[in-house]
Amino acid sequence: MENPFRCPVCNALMEEDKDAGFKVPPQCPYLKTLYPELCSLHDKLYFGKWRKMVAVPNDIKRAYAKLGQLLSRVEEIVRKENIPQAGQDVRKACDALAMANPDEEPYASVKHMDQALSYVHHAINELLQEKQAKLHSPADYEMHYDVVLPFKEDL
Ligand SMILES: [Zn+2]
Repeated sequence: MENPFRCPVCNALMEEDKDAGFKVPPQCPYLKTLYPELCSLHDKLYFGKWRKMVAVPNDIKRAYAKLGQLLSRVEEIVRKENIPQAGQDVRKACDALAMANPDEEPYASVKHMDQALSYVHHAINELLQEKQAKLHSPADYEMHYDVVLPFKEDL
């Protein structure tokens, strides 16, 4: 399916992602990764506003929806590649996400969502390791995001 408004490499919408402080660069920064879509989605959440002190409930609800989308993409690929270790990480991510209830308790949900995102990161790295590719480090892409510190966990 061709969508002219999406990045041909990582499938991200070709517009600034205000939640993540992401500005569309001239060339996709995920060009050299093996799983550009997964890494791009991961980082948009990793650097997302929902994890910061300034987050409002709607930021957390939007992030919850994006996290669900990312998780189902990862699950799909992990199943196709058949990597048991990554499958375990996906299950742990699902369990963590199931603990979150952003409609009722947005702020209490953040820690469960953080955990889910971390397990998703493990799963992505299992996929990369299987192909002997470089592991994914969000810090390598930090320059493309407006990183506003501090994160909640630093306080
Ligand atoms: Zn891209």
